[in-house]
Amino acid sequence: MTKTYWYVASLADGQTHLADPAGNALVTARCDGKRFRPLATLTGTPPDEAQICPACHAIRIGMP
Ligand SMILES: [Zn+2]
Repeated sequence: MTKTYWYVASLADGQTHLADPAGNALVTARCDGKRFRPLATLTGTPPDEAQICPACHAIRIGMP
């Protein structure tokens, strides 16, 4: 199983995404495929649920 991290795109609500490293300090969001430069990488579950992207949260729940 691939290790998955949460990446903070911005501090606004719903802006912490599941993403994969895309090189050049960028990551690709799992939900919409957009690339962004994360403010932070979270190794666990984001502490503030309001900041989690709803689409990525649904993806995470669907994971084994
Ligand atoms: Zn997302």
